[in-house]
Amino acid sequence: MGRYLQKQRNKGTVIGFVPTMGALHEGHMNLVDTCKGQTGLSVCSIFVNPTQFNDPSDFEKYPVTLEKDLKMLSDAGTSVVFLPSVKEIYPNGLKLENQYDLGDLETKLEGKYRPGHFQGVCQVVDKLLEMTSPDILFMGQKDYQQCMVVQKLIDLKKIPTRLQTCPTVRESSGLAMSSRNMRLSTEERALAARIHETLQQIKSELKPGDTSGILKSAAQRLTDAGFKVDYLEICTANGLDKIDNWDGKTPAIAVVAAFLGNVRLIDNLIIK
Ligand code: AMP
Repeated sequence: MGRYLQKQRNKGTVIGFVPTMGALHEGHMNLVDTCKGQTGLSVCSIFVNPTQFNDPSDFEKYPVTLEKDLKMLSDAGTSVVFLPSVKEIYPNGLKLENQYDLGDLETKLEGKYRPGHFQGVCQVVDKLLEMTSPDILFMGQKDYQQCMVVQKLIDLKKIPTRLQTCPTVRESSGLAMSSRNMRLSTEERALAARIHETLQQIKSELKPGDTSGILKSAAQRLTDAGFKVDYLEICTANGLDKIDNWDGKTPAIAVVAAFLGNVRLIDNLIIK
């Protein structure tokens, strides 16, 4: 694949890359379509990265639908599908080292609740970028903090790739599409729409001043509905720093992570 992509690059073809963990849905396919529209050659990888799972049972239960994924990518006209083995990505084994200096991105929100997760993300994205050397990397806003982490990786290692963040694709209920939604029961799936509703309500209620009242009642509503909330916060959109007192001007984002049964869901909504 490396040789093939190098040949294309030599011809001046612009290469786009969409890394995924498979169990593809419209959110992934939107990235692939955007990639196809902006580049001359679209590469999509499917690799369930073991080093980014802090919870072993989440890794074991991660859905795998390879046949269906390949059909979707083929129908979408993806140029290259890359399915590396664990050994190809990690020839020296799965030892996770804290190799990337991600600053406080690593200790807040997802970083706080999923220790080691972002080191694992950096390990795999670093390796995949080295293998594909794309001009543009396409990732989803649904994983907002992950996009910030990958931008940091690109900056730290001076990788000549531009990250393009694409909007979150939602089901008609508002639920952000996610491979993990497959693990929800029909009732849970309907209930899961409350996450987006809650974020929208925060957005409509937020006024300059103290944010704690709005957040407290929003988290309580989710808890009452049966969610176990890891975090629900309003943060600066640029640095993901918690905003206790909003000035009404600073670009902000509402971010949430909550369990429904044993499925952990995350979402976010840009407020301004
Ligand atoms: P994953 O397979 O979950 O690792 O996701 C692969 C890529 O798809 C990441 O860049 C995600 O942010 C993106 N993605 C996942 N779900 C969505 C969604 N609902 N809308 C947009 N992008 C998404």
